[in-house]
This record gives sequence, structure tokens and C-alpha cells, in this order.
Amino acid sequence: MVTLKKALSLTQEELKEIKKEITHQVHENSELNAYIDEPVESISSGVPILIKDNINVKNWEITCASKILKGYVSPYNASVIEKLHQSGMCAYGRANMDEFAMGSTTETSCYGKTKNPRDTSRVPGGSSGGSAAAVAGGFAIAALGSDTGGSIRQPAGYCGCVGLKPTYGRVSRYGLIAYSSSLDQIGPITQNVEDCAILFDAISGHDKMDSTSALLPSTQTFSKLDRDRRFKIAILDGYLKDADIEIQRAYQETIRTLESMGHQIVSKTMLDTSYHISTYYIICTAEASSNLARFDGVRYGNRAQHVDNLKDLYIKTRSQGFGEEVKRRIMLGSFVLSSGYYDAYYSKAQKIRKLIHKQYEDIFCDADMILSPVAPSVAPKFGATHSPLEMYLSDIYTIGVNLAGLPCISLPIGKSKEGLPVAMQLIGKSFDEQSLLDASYGLEQNLDIHFD
Ligand code: GLN
Repeated sequence: MVTLKKALSLTQEELKEIKKEITHQVHENSELNAYIDEPVESISSGVPILIKDNINVKNWEITCASKILKGYVSPYNASVIEKLHQSGMCAYGRANMDEFAMGSTTETSCYGKTKNPRDTSRVPGGSSGGSAAAVAGGFAIAALGSDTGGSIRQPAGYCGCVGLKPTYGRVSRYGLIAYSSSLDQIGPITQNVEDCAILFDAISGHDKMDSTSALLPSTQTFSKLDRDRRFKIAILDGYLKDADIEIQRAYQETIRTLESMGHQIVSKTMLDTSYHISTYYIICTAEASSNLARFDGVRYGNRAQHVDNLKDLYIKTRSQGFGEEVKRRIMLGSFVLSSGYYDAYYSKAQKIRKLIHKQYEDIFCDADMILSPVAPSVAPKFGATHSPLEMYLSDIYTIGVNLAGLPCISLPIGKSKEGLPVAMQLIGKSFDEQSLLDASYGLEQNLDIHFD
């Protein structure tokens, strides 16, 4: 598939042909189930960008891959969609995802699972699995995903794409259907680092419609992209104990490559990362239980039939509309916020969140960025994860970044024995996406990995 950089230089006629080709490929690859429905465009001109099904596009049915939102037609564009239009791009197609972005495999979608194009017996990752599978499979030029606890970086890693989770506040969340508002960020999933910078520049910048949006102009990382900059990169002692041996080896190999390129490696320590899991799953479920309270059958999407009264309407609509994982999280979140348990769980988690942030800040006093695996393994086979807890534990490397609001890029650094993508991530200082993109650009050129 043509790159985003190249596509932006094409005529509208040529882009029309590419859209036709994408639609054709979506049919050819329907078994992967990366797109929800046949792709349509948000406006009739521009480079087509695939959009995760939790970002509002005017006049599109937007459902967060949930039965409860079926029939909801968005009356407005999210700010990122408006920004795409201003940058010569358009929304083209809805990407499959885990229901309400809760999951790490894209198996919780009401439209059925998405398959990994590199090996269809494996998950594409989640929750932005449709976005990553389509880019990796060659039937999307680039895509937008959302990352609450790894949902851009981990599927990008499992499928062999580049994924960027921007600094919290860098990209407007206006029009992103909230999962956990203090963690969510929209970001690009692309074929390479250059495209990642281009798409990031297009969607970043202050937005008065989002009160948590940072007072900073749009970035210009692409024009400044510099593969020759050298950095001080931290590696974390004891951080790899949860990773498979193959990932551990790849980590050591990446360190050697970075050193041979002239980067300086420094060793640092961090609090036991198991705290990241407990803190994240308390905070994200608490916020989700509150954010998802609005889906009650009165205002959006599906409404249960044959109800006796208002309470019955709420109960039936929510019982029928939400899937199992979403219900689990609403219950968990309501529990940790309930009086009597609030202090024991929620307020404690907020304190640990501060501590985690402080630990990253301490590391950044003496390093420009941190090298970390994206996930403890390569993309698992379907059915390999046996319990929700096991799935939560696989988020070990991605969620600390969201708790601290930091930017982080995931990029392929090699192949496993079976030829599957292996990815690493670089975690940066707040609002220093430029350094992450520069370092990744250099690494990408040095490694020159191809999957086909
Ligand atoms: N897997 C994590 C979760 O289920 C992250 C999801 C995300 O980033 N949206 O919450």
C-alpha cells in the first residue's frame, strides 16, 4: 500500500482509485474482519484514513463495537476528523475494536474478532486491532486508534506497524467516546515513522472544545525529523522478568543496536510494575463506570423493548446492550467508587498513580527516553488467554505510560522465530514526541525490517 507521505502528493483522481482499491481489498480480506461494513468517506476529497469506531464522524453510525450503540448516528465530527479534513485527508472506513476499547485482543467486539494478517490464527492485539490489522494487511494507508492503556502501541506491535500514543492533552479528545477520560488519547497507527509524524502533526494542537487540551500549537515533527540525533536512553533493571525469553533477547539486541548507533544507554530502576496493573485497573474501571452511565437507552443507540417503567428500561437496555467484559468493568468501577471502599481502593490508586509519575520524572532527570518491550510476548493465538486477569496482566508494559500521561512510540524491531513481529517502545518526556520520532526514525532505517 502507498505510504501516507506519497498519498499526500497524489491527485484527487488518483486518490479515488486508491479508495476503490481499498474497498476491493476490504472485500478480499473480509476474513480478517478489520473494517466494520463497507468503507464510506467523510468528505469526497483527501487521503483516506481508517478510523476506530469510537471516534465520532458526522453522519456515520459510531458504535464502539457495542450492541448498545447500534443505530447511533453521530451528529458531529470529532476535532481530529476536522483536522484531517484541514490536512488533505478524510475519514474512510470504521475500524473494528474491543467493545468500548476494553480489551487487548479485539475479541470483545460485537462484530466478532479481527484476525492478525501476519498469522490469522493469532490476535491482532487490542483494542485498536482493526486499525493495526488493516494497516499491516495493506488495506489502509494509515489509521487512527485510541490508547487508554496500550491500545495503539500493543496492536501496532503485534501486527508490525508503528503506533504513537501522544502526551496526554496533545491531541483533542473532543468527539472520542470516553472510556477512561484521564488516560485516553487518540493517536496514529502507520506503516512507518515518517507517516506517523505526518499524521500526528495533522491531529495535534490545542482545542478549546477539550478542557484537558494543552495550550500548545500543532506539532511540526515531520519537517524536523532527524535520524542523526543521539540520545541518552534508559533501560530498567528487573523490568524484563515478566517477558518471554524471545522478548528478553530482542530487548538485549535492541540495546546493542542503539549502542552501535552511538546512543548512550543508562541503567535505571523502577518500582515493581505489578503496581501499574492494580492502579490502572482501579482507575480505568472507576472512570468507565461513570462514563458509561450515559448509555441508558434514553439518549443514544439501542433501547430495550417491552419495558414496564424507567428503571426497567435502564436495566433491560444495559443488560442486553453491554457485553460481558464491559459489564465486569462497570461493576468493578462502581465497587471501587462505593462508599466504604473508595478510600481503600480509589484514593489509594490515585496516590500510587502520583508515585508512578514521580518515578518516571526521576528517570528523566538523567535520560531522554526509556526503552521497554511493548508486551510480554508476540501476538498470542486465539484462545491462549484463559481469564480476564491473565489478559489484564499482559498490559504490564503499556499502562504505566498512560497513568503518567507520557508520550510513547511502538515500532517493530525484529521477527520472532516464527516470523511474527516483535516490537519495542520508547517512552519520552511530556510533550517531547519529537525525540521519540527522531530516535525511532534512526532505528527504523538502521534495522530495515520487512515482513512480507
Ligand atoms: N488493554 C487495556 C484495557 O483493556 C487497554 C485498552 C486501551 O488502551 N483502550 O483497558
